Amino acid sequence: ERKAALAASSGPGRTSDGFRIPLLANIGGPADLPAALEHGAEGVGLFRTEFLFLDDSAKAPSEDKQVEAYRKVLEAFPESRVVVRVLDAGADKPLDFLTPADEPNPALGVRGLRTLLDHPEVLRTQLRALARAAEGLPVHLEVMAPMVADRVDARAFAAACREAGLRAKYGAMVEIPSAALRARSILQEVEFLSLGTNDLAQYTFAADRQVGALARLQDPWQPALLDLVASAAEAAKAAGSSCGVCGEAASDPLLACVLAGLGVTSLSMGSASIPYVRATLAKYTLAQCRRAAEAARAADTADEARAAAQQVLSGE
Ligand code: PEP
Ligand code: MG
Repeated sequence: ERKAALAASSGPGRTSDGFRIPLLANIGGPADLPAALEHGAEGVGLFRTEFLFLDDSAKAPSEDKQVEAYRKVLEAFPESRVVVRVLDAGADKPLDFLTPADEPNPALGVRGLRTLLDHPEVLRTQLRALARAAEGLPVHLEVMAPMVADRVDARAFAAACREAGLRAKYGAMVEIPSAALRARSILQEVEFLSLGTNDLAQYTFAADRQVGALARLQDPWQPALLDLVASAAEAAKAAGSSCGVCGEAASDPLLACVLAGLGVTSLSMGSASIPYVRATLAKYTLAQCRRAAEAARAADTADEARAAAQQVLSGE
């Protein structure tokens, strides 16, 4: 079955009636590029830049070292979209020199963009390195901030990008419910959205993503999570902006169809999942995906949502 899925699956992501949903790769650094290319990723939808900061927990990597790593990624995907996320430190990804050690609730503390706004020199260096790495390359560089809560955050990030002279699209990750609910206002400051469904589930259900016993609440099929995805996707559509998903949810082929039906414009995932998502998406029309999304949102539990979507798609 795996071989069949891979064979049936090449070329760009699209529904059976030809509606394009680009399938992008989540990467942690240049080491993940061969797998992304091998599985036919159409670009990078989430470059988690944390890896660069793990070598030395006492200080940030030099600008030159960052340029080198970013350049390798950009060169691997010429003329493609590459979405780089600036450093997401704190909570599940603490860094000694940046993350406060005494927070009672690190997931609700200074993390993500909040850390960078407290350490503007770290953000500045990273943005300058990205600007240098993209120089002279025909890439479509997009840079996004993790853990944007509101318009104030989005404005601060966009201002930092402009000050660094970055010629790229600036975006916000939607991984806090406030950002999904007020996506329209965030889009006054930035050009695109990317839903981080791992954290969005964590914060929607007040269920720590590192606590396995709470898996039921972190299930991305939870209708409340689907409602927030729909809210962000609708706001993006009204603003003429893109709204991707880069959390684990995008790697579930059936859920990927539902996300497309909710109005999500691209899906980014671990490279190994791309062929399966591509093959499943190619089986259904956009209208079928929309009906499956409606059925899932009408359900009351994650299990019922999954079953309802499955029924719509297999029954048609
Ligand atoms: C997410 O939160 O869904 C996400 C994509 O970012 P990370 O898993 O790195 O927090
Ligand atoms: Mg996240």
